[in-house]
Amino acid sequence: MASGAIPLIAMFLGAGWWALCYAVPLPELDQAERFLRFRLAFPGIVLVAPAILVFSLEYTGRKNQAAWRFIALLLIKPAILLLAVSWAPLHDLLFGAWRGRPGDGYFKGGPLFWAHTLYDYMLIMIGYGLLVRHYLRESPLYRRPVQLLLIGMAIPFVFNVITVLHVIPPGIDITPIGFAICSVFVATAVFKHGLLVPIAREKIIEAISDGVLVVDTSGCIVDSNPAAHDILKGDARPLRGRHLKEVLPQWTVASGTCDGENERTEVFIAGSDKYVDLRPISLKDASGTLKGSVLVLRDITTEKNTAMALEQANQQLRAQLFAIESMQKLLREQAIKDALTGLFNRRYLEETLQRELRQAERTGDPLAIVLIDIDYFKKINDTHGHACGDAVLQALGAMLLQKSRAGDLACRYGGEEFVIILIGTSHQIALQRAEQWRAEFAALSCSCNGTDISATLSAGVAVFPDHGREEGALLKAADDALYAAKAAGRNNVKSAIAENLAA
Ligand code: GH3
Ligand code: MG
Ligand code: MG
Repeated sequence: MASGAIPLIAMFLGAGWWALCYAVPLPELDQAERFLRFRLAFPGIVLVAPAILVFSLEYTGRKNQAAWRFIALLLIKPAILLLAVSWAPLHDLLFGAWRGRPGDGYFKGGPLFWAHTLYDYMLIMIGYGLLVRHYLRESPLYRRPVQLLLIGMAIPFVFNVITVLHVIPPGIDITPIGFAICSVFVATAVFKHGLLVPIAREKIIEAISDGVLVVDTSGCIVDSNPAAHDILKGDARPLRGRHLKEVLPQWTVASGTCDGENERTEVFIAGSDKYVDLRPISLKDASGTLKGSVLVLRDITTEKNTAMALEQANQQLRAQLFAIESMQKLLREQAIKDALTGLFNRRYLEETLQRELRQAERTGDPLAIVLIDIDYFKKINDTHGHACGDAVLQALGAMLLQKSRAGDLACRYGGEEFVIILIGTSHQIALQRAEQWRAEFAALSCSCNGTDISATLSAGVAVFPDHGREEGALLKAADDALYAAKAAGRNNVKSAIAENLAA
């Protein structure tokens, strides 16, 4: 049951009973009946004022503060009054001289009646005061039902004052009519404007961990919950009454009126060091007119920090992975490359030559190898030193790399010997290329320790399948051709075929 519903029902039950007893105008009844009905109305009458007070306490959220003992105290007066109503010796105190008989005049009431009336007026005033206070503190967006309630409740009170003070002809009590009018206002407040709903909503909004800001169409904050204060606590001033632009300058809405339905934004609140997921919800009335907005602020600092830490860890992992991959690449290169010249090493040559020969066998394409040996290299070492010998080896390596084409594989075979695999190259072209390298190297001059060193090379050319189908046979044929080139005076290129033919 919604908070405030039971006392509200009790109030209308009391008022209803009151009205029922007066259903027939008192002047038209005989005296005994009139007196009886007058007395019978009291159980209803005494219920109304305490019910109004309890309702106000519940509705304004004060019932917890007001102990049940206090509510029990409120029932003492009705009990005394009902005793006075039912026990004849107390009738004088309550009704004065009036007993409903002709000649009794009209009801003026005894001292107990006036005490009861003033006591009830006091209870009603306290209850009404609490409701007025609540109304003034309530956000303008939620004021309507309370407004209807205040107007509705004032009517029977005024009607009762009119009756009791005999402003209208005596003998008629118009209070029940006031309650009938009041019930229309209360019903509208309850059923059309959800009078009893905001209490539950308010409690939820107070309790939830998401911050809630209610903003009017001008961007001014009209309501907020404790979570919103907590999230925005960088600023200790109250939020209500301040403009959104001042409280959340990071969040900008083009129109300045927050009419951005469900557009979630992530903002950082510098004051409280918090990341907030901000979701605006438009408040529109039945005709679709914008009345304001509710901003729901969800604190996502923990999620955000976790995500950032995760991203940082990911970045570190990516960097480590990159370093590992680079190292692996380097190791792979080191495993297949010669450190001095940067050409492929002998191991790679052997693997590749074998593979390429199988491929050439399948496709029927030619494949040539050129075996190169520097002439009188020992002498260079002896004359200029080992370091200068190395420089000459590097110069030849660089020249071979520079002059190689796609499909060429230049390798250092060992010492001052080099092998170039020419994939898909015919015997004729291989001879021409070897001749180019020979001429190029002979024209090179390598500077070492202030001395220009020149050297020549000899080369032997062998071609698959003419000079060998296997790696060993082909290399042997090239080596034989190289030997022939050396024998022919060095600085020379010889072909295995030419050699074979010569042989
Ligand atoms: P030719 O081939 O013309 O018959 O004479 P050569 O002097 O070049 O022949 P040989 O094979 O006798 O000499 C090769 C020399 O190469 C021997 C060795 O000390 C030297 N050598 C081998 N590897 C390296 C190296 O990495 N650096 C240097 N500087 N010298 C090396
Ligand atoms: Mg040699
Ligand atoms: Mg040599």
